[in-house]
Amino acid sequence: VKGFAMLGIGKLGWIEKEKPEVGPYDALVKPLVLAPCTSDIHTVFEGAIGDRHNLILGHEAAGEIIEVGSEVKYFKVGDRVVIPAITPDWRSLEAQDGYAQHSNGMLSGWKFSNIKDGVFSEAIHINDADMNLAMMPKGMSLEQAVMLSDMAPTGIQGAELANIKTGATVAVIGIGPVGLMSVAGSAIHGAGRLFAVGNRKVCTDLAQEYGATDIIDYKKGDIVEQILKATNGRGVDATVIAGGDSNAISEAVRITKPGGTISNVNYFGSGETLPIPRLEWGNGMSHKDIRGGLVAGGRLKMERMVDLCTYKRIAPEKMATHVFDGFESIEKALLLMKDKPKDLIKPVVIC
Ligand code: NDP
Ligand code: ZN
Repeated sequence: VKGFAMLGIGKLGWIEKEKPEVGPYDALVKPLVLAPCTSDIHTVFEGAIGDRHNLILGHEAAGEIIEVGSEVKYFKVGDRVVIPAITPDWRSLEAQDGYAQHSNGMLSGWKFSNIKDGVFSEAIHINDADMNLAMMPKGMSLEQAVMLSDMAPTGIQGAELANIKTGATVAVIGIGPVGLMSVAGSAIHGAGRLFAVGNRKVCTDLAQEYGATDIIDYKKGDIVEQILKATNGRGVDATVIAGGDSNAISEAVRITKPGGTISNVNYFGSGETLPIPRLEWGNGMSHKDIRGGLVAGGRLKMERMVDLCTYKRIAPEKMATHVFDGFESIEKALLLMKDKPKDLIKPVVIC
């Protein structure tokens, strides 16, 4: 099978691989839709998870099942399915403990384009299909389905980890596709006033549509000053970090009230340490909780994402600003993700 791969740090190319073997609990899926992720860019161009050779990239896809193992009960050949970016080993102690995304080692539930070939392939291997896939409802658009792999669950997890009390003031730093879903998730979780920190109009417009009440432009001055001024110096109850560099941690601590929560879903691709400002962290005694997590993955999470779309709580397909035709245009779409033109939120490839 053909796939678009990381050949080494900074190097991309098409490669041919053997068709993956399907174990008794596994499935093979032919992609119907693919999307590149900012994480693919961190992986290839920053070498953020170390060097990888001839590893097929990608972890955002939906498709049609072309083969199932003998023990797969819930799915059959021909079913159209949503594929999560994270496909944990459900028979692991970490899964029993509620953190399946770290099954068999930190971040190891993240398999595609990390520890095994990713989804930019003619045949995607799914471990434990019954536990990791979800049915794509009839009538769901492919643009919507592909946002459920990673963008919707990651962004919404940002809101979940932020412990948002009903009516609380929330700030979302970074409103690319992940942060936009954090805005939508924060609104669902009951945010009152909702700051969205971004710059590009295409993102700020959609942030407002998804529920942001105030836009803060990080290119028009220090965001800490802007948010503290807007809240009469009080700051916010909860901050979700979904963009920016490592300084965003420091900014989040500065704008969050004592007792508040800082939730990070950003992927920090470089640097040895992350900055926590001592004084604003109350010399360690501020009760400002700093949390962060890899998105959960798995079938239940995917089914819930599907329901959020079916019952019109979220509309993630609106983030698909650039839609390409044909499997091979994944190359163009990925490079677009690297260049981030002004009008881009998320490129999508209809295969
Ligand atoms: P984008 O690059 O599309 O969005 C980043 C956002 O941050 C943009 O709104 C950008 O604004 C804004 N931004 C950039 N610099 C600053 C700054 N200095 N201060 C404040 N805001 C800033 O990324 P994605 O939405 O695709 O992904 C966000 C992060 O989430 C990435 O690091 C990605 O790797 C990670 N991720 C994590 C996952 C997880 O499981 N935890 C899963 C998937 C992704 P503008 O463009 O307008 O200039
Ligand atoms: Zn991703």
